[in-house]
Amino acid sequence: MASPVYVVKVGGSAGIRDDELLDELAARHANGERFLLVHGGSDETNEVARQLGHPPRFVTSVSGFESRYTDRKTLEIFSMVYCGRRNKSLVEGLQQRGVNAVGLSGADGRIFEGEMKGALKIIEGGKKKVLRGDYSGKITRVHTELLELLLEGGFFPVLTPPAIDRESSCMMNVDGDRAAAELAKAFSARALIILSTVPGLLRDLDGDHSDPTNLISSIDLSSAEDPYSAAEGRMKKKIMGAQEAIDGGVEKVILSTANRPNPIRSALEGAGTTIFRSAVAAEESRI
Ligand code: ADP
Repeated sequence: MASPVYVVKVGGSAGIRDDELLDELAARHANGERFLLVHGGSDETNEVARQLGHPPRFVTSVSGFESRYTDRKTLEIFSMVYCGRRNKSLVEGLQQRGVNAVGLSGADGRIFEGEMKGALKIIEGGKKKVLRGDYSGKITRVHTELLELLLEGGFFPVLTPPAIDRESSCMMNVDGDRAAAELAKAFSARALIILSTVPGLLRDLDGDHSDPTNLISSIDLSSAEDPYSAAEGRMKKKIMGAQEAIDGGVEKVILSTANRPNPIRSALEGAGTTIFRSAVAAEESRI
């Protein structure tokens, strides 16, 4: 039987380091472990967008989540960076470590298929507004066939947004953490590991990041505690992705940092925030 799949998401915010992660992925791949790597690219996208005279615009939805307003030009810049520079730099890094990596967007082989919203309902200056011409949406289906072929052939898939709209076949921006969650669900992944520049979910983002008492080491989604209470900004999407993955049958999601040696082993050994749903409570909730 084929070994289980781990889905790893590596962020793209300022200060993220790839080398230690790529070293560990290459060593584990050589040992026969199977991975699907998903990445972000937000910081470089902002930088390139500014250089091209089309600066990024971030908006807050009526439900309180922050996202990038993606007009057509932004989608093009987004694709340049995500599918181009960032994706190929990870592919190159893996190739240099002897791993036959293949970089694909969610539009290739319709890996990430979904529904475009078209308009965003946002809050700006305390008022509700509708922003039209937005090319972003939600993944509703993952086509696994191409990825299964690649995994069977010993290749190492490196995946990135954008996704593709089911109806129009237009590309659309989707959140990378939630894309990784959909992938983890589709492959019944052993775990989803979301690596960024922070050690996990912190009680106080302004406090000392290296203080272990500042880290929420685990979240049981079946407990009464609100998993979003400490999360602000982009962290909310990670919690949302974690919740979606676990509701979809993934056993655990770990939020941890990429910026240390062996970030995967550390995450699996309990560094970071482990999110799960305890079996007892899950049993009770079915009654
Ligand atoms: P990536 O680009 O790696 O996907 P981000 O850097 O966008 O991830 O998301 C993580 C960010 O979430 C952190 O850099 C931090 O600024 C923010 N954040 C908000 N609340 C928290 C929290 N409670 N604990 C940790 N990070 C938080």
